[in-house]
Parts: sequence; structure tokens; C-alpha cells
Amino acid sequence: MRSATRLDILGTEDAYVVLDAAKQLEAAGHRVLHLEIGEPDMPTPPHVVEAGVRALREGRTRYAVAAGLPELRDAIAQSLAARGVRASAENVIVTPGAKPMLFCAALAVIEPGDEVLCPNPGFPIYESVARFAGGQPVYYPLAESRAFAPDVDAIAARVTPRTRVLIVNLPHNPTGGVASADDLARLAALAERHDLWLITDEVYGQLRYDGRCDSIAALPGMSERTIIVDGFSKAYCMTGWRLGYGVMPAWLSEPMTTLVINNLSCTATFVQHAGVAALTGPQDPVHRFVASLRAKRDMLVRGLNAIDGVRCATPAGAFYTFPDVSGVLARTGLACGALAERLLAEAHTAVLAGTAFGPGGAGHLRLSYAGAARDLEQALERIRGWVGSLAAVA
Ligand code: PLP
Repeated sequence: MRSATRLDILGTEDAYVVLDAAKQLEAAGHRVLHLEIGEPDMPTPPHVVEAGVRALREGRTRYAVAAGLPELRDAIAQSLAARGVRASAENVIVTPGAKPMLFCAALAVIEPGDEVLCPNPGFPIYESVARFAGGQPVYYPLAESRAFAPDVDAIAARVTPRTRVLIVNLPHNPTGGVASADDLARLAALAERHDLWLITDEVYGQLRYDGRCDSIAALPGMSERTIIVDGFSKAYCMTGWRLGYGVMPAWLSEPMTTLVINNLSCTATFVQHAGVAALTGPQDPVHRFVASLRAKRDMLVRGLNAIDGVRCATPAGAFYTFPDVSGVLARTGLACGALAERLLAEAHTAVLAGTAFGPGGAGHLRLSYAGAARDLEQALERIRGWVGSLAAVA
């Protein structure tokens, strides 16, 4: 027996592979510091938990309508006003997490042979689902010299008559980069000029340190060609609840619902009630979370920059640093994948190699600062000590 060949073209996320290796070390009795997985250490806000539990107690344990509960679709549409997006419930489709919506969006708009512009470095699932849908991923670079903001000229240079979709992720995983208002306007003009679909992954949209909250979908003409992908995992500390959504032109909602019926049926009903509470209840847990992230970001960036051979920019959003470790690599003769592997095996500190996000991540590591502050402090100590102990190549 063998599986269908289409499974062979799927990529994966190294975060899960490294997490698995880290768990094995833990099972062998080691204390591992987890900077590999993008998961907040904060609990889900209590009023959200309460709403989920109440929904369970009230028997909201049956199938929901496939597109999502009307009250949640409505609350999501209202919440988008904060980033300048005008939408109504009919534009919103709810899924169990943002990732299923990425998958659905790719299947919904990519034709076989279409070229799909993906950030490099970037979330590896973009190119995986683009390929799965029959498309051809085409990388566009994100340069550290531009604080990892999308370079519109570099993207424009990669557009061909076959280009159909542009994927943007702002704030960006793995770099924390954001785009200026001018970059967004130029990207929107590019999408319009070449009649492209825009898939805009905004799962870190509320985790910003520059006081801004925006979306390319808010720009004139963009709502017709944009699918916003977002979810509750990051901003509301709800990774395990599995709740996300897409926002799209109303005409696409119906075929997208058919796609949902075919593979998901619907999203857990009581989880959707918790989602309503997250959006309509007090937002101070999100503000507190962002404040705590800012403090951890500053501590991590300072600590990394104090290590010989490491240079780390200050990210404007999300909860990742993406330090350039090429000084360490040059001194030791290691590649960044080997550096990350040895850091886990020898210093029990789990991080990701920049190349887990495509070839554009070479020379970097990705460290998540969503975990506990004391773990980050210890991780810095371990990294500093371990990097210092590495022998230099002759
Ligand atoms: N998009 C990006 C850029 C992510 O980093 C992640 C999770 O790490 C997701 C989407 C998926 O989020 P969810 O937990 O809502 O499926």
C-alpha cells in the first residue's frame, strides 16, 4: 500500500519537528528551554474561558452552521474596523484556526500552474499549500536592511503573466517585520495593476510595538481581491482552542463554505462562543500581553546583541527575534541548521534555524519570546555560555 503522491509535495513546519526532539530530551530528564514554538505562555483570558465553559454547560455541543455562528461572524466583522477594514458577517468564514483558512484560501484561488509570490524567509506553510493547490511558489526576498519590510520593487520584478496570488504576512513570522503605509499602498497598487489575489496573513496583527494596527485590505479597491487570514491563537492566547477565520469578498463566501463543509463541517460550537467573548469583552488582556511581550523583546534583543558574533534587530511586531548569527557561523564553520541542532543537544535550548523559513533565512536563528521571562533569561545565559565555548575553525 502507498499514500497518494500528492502528499509527497506537502512541506512541514520545523517548529513541530524541533518540539518533538525537545520533548525527547525532556523525557530523558533534561530541562529544555523552549524558544522554538510560537505559543504564548499566558493563559487564555478568564472571561473567555468562562464563556467557553458556560457554552458547554448550556449544551452548545452540537454542529454549528458551516460558515460560523452569525454572532461570531458579526463580531469578527466589527472587530476589523480597528484596522480600517469595512466588512460584514457575510464576508467572514470561521475555521478551526488560521491555518485551515490558509489551506482553504489556497485551494479556493490557485489554479494549476499559477505562480504564487511567497515571502522568503517566510512561514513554510505558504509554499506548501500553494504547491498542494497546484501552484508554483515564487519567493520574494525580505531584507534585513529594510527591517524585513516587503520590498515592492523586488516583488514587482518577480511578477509574470502567470502570477496570480501575492501572499503577505504582516507582522511577519519569522522576522517581526511590518510594512509602512507607503509600502502597503504600493503593494495594493501592484496587486491591482496585475490583477492579483492578495492573501494577507494577519495572525500577529494585534501584536505590534509601534502603536499601529493596519491592513492592506483597508485600502481602496482591495476588499474585492483580498482574503484576510486571522485567528485567536496569538493575540488571545488561544492556541489550543483552534479558532480562526477568513475575510473575503461576499461572493467567495459561498464556495468557501462548500469547501469547509467538505473538509471541516464546522468549527466547535462552544469554542465559537468563547471567540465572541474574546472580541466583545474587555481588551485589556491583549494590551497587557503586548506590554509583557515588549519587555521580553527588549531583554532578548539586548542580550543577543551582547553575544560575540550575533547581531539582532528590534522587531516591530509578532513575538520573534531573527538574529543574524553569521559571525558565529564564520568563526565555528557551522551552518545555522547545525548550530540550532547543537544548541538543543548540548545546551538544551530549542530554537529554529533561519533556513526552516526558506533559503532566505540562512545565517539566522529564530527565537520566540512568547514564553516565560525567566526562561528567556536562562536561555540567554545558556546561549552566551555555549556559543563562547565553541571552538573556532583554524
Ligand atoms: N500564520 C502564521 C504566520 C503563523 O505563525 C501561524 C502559527 O504559528 C499561523 C498562521 C497559524 O495559526 P493558528 O494557530 O490560528 O492556526
